[in-house]
Amino acid sequence: YDAKRTGASVVTFDPDRHGDTQGLLSTVTELRHAITAGQLRVHFQPQLHTGDGTLAGVEALVRWQHPVRGLLAPAQFLPLAETHGLMDAVTREVLRQSVAQQALWRRRGLLVRVSVNLSAGTLLDVSLPAMVAALLAHHEVPATSLVLEVTETALLREPDRSLAVVEALRALGVQGSIDDFGTGYSSLTQLRQLPVSELKLDRSFTADLLADPRAAAIIAHTIGLAHALRLRVVAEGVEDEATLAALTALGCDETQGFLHARPLPAPEFEAWCAARRGTAPGAPGALVRSG
Ligand code: C2E
Ligand code: MG
Ligand code: MG
Ligand code: MG
Repeated sequence: YDAKRTGASVVTFDPDRHGDTQGLLSTVTELRHAITAGQLRVHFQPQLHTGDGTLAGVEALVRWQHPVRGLLAPAQFLPLAETHGLMDAVTREVLRQSVAQQALWRRRGLLVRVSVNLSAGTLLDVSLPAMVAALLAHHEVPATSLVLEVTETALLREPDRSLAVVEALRALGVQGSIDDFGTGYSSLTQLRQLPVSELKLDRSFTADLLADPRAAAIIAHTIGLAHALRLRVVAEGVEDEATLAALTALGCDETQGFLHARPLPAPEFEAWCAARRGTAPGAPGALVRSG
């Protein structure tokens, strides 16, 4: 987890607290409690079509509203969840909140795709597809509007087992996405058999696009190959107009980043949609009806 990736509205990591065993143990106990007590919050970051700037989807990103320490970023507690067997519980909670929120939006006319991140361990959980199917059925959300993001390293850790889970999800109609593409050691050639529909260009490439001709060449090549494999390409970490223009020129399908919006709590995301509706006819908020 890259601390630099965290949003601005989070408190800093407290090494003292984690340096001592007592602090660590109490944090694990707190996290276990937090999951059931509703302290995990999901924020949503918009993904926009490069062509017309309309809303394509949102990525759900977890935060921990800690009673004392404030809003914590994923990098501050997901490693702990991972090492203490709490990752599946976190994932289920994020999925539950994301699908429930999506159902509310759909009822109000905002038909938006929602992407949820899966950890490597979750990808080996053979009970995940049935859980996802039940959740979607309960909320009457179509499977095709849910995207599950996995990293290439997670996919390649235990390829056979994770492929079975991805295929079962695909059979439901859920879309797969390869997150942080370019940071692992896999190539698109290795990934060509995977039943996924989206590839996310890692922020490190996006950030270097304008300054480094090699990053630009890699992005151009990746987009070309992805399109040949019928994959949608989403660039993450887009922070300025010039980068957006360059990605658009390269044929990137969608962009996500602070340029458009930071990850936002649902009400703030809805306000963001409404504000765009006010300034740009046909913009994402145009889909939102009041009430
Ligand atoms: P990710 O899936 O690659 O998510 C994108 C991260 O980049 C988010 O950080 C987001 O806030 C940040 N970001 C987005 N646009 C920009 C930008 O323009 N500039 C910069 N500097 N950063 C940007 P966040 O929310 O701190 O999440 C970090 C990582 O934690 C995620 O990376 C993902 O790997 C993991 N994560 C977050 N939520 C979950 C979850 O519910 N489950 C699992 N398993 N992992 C999660
Ligand atoms: Mg992601
Ligand atoms: Mg990513
Ligand atoms: Mg990333």
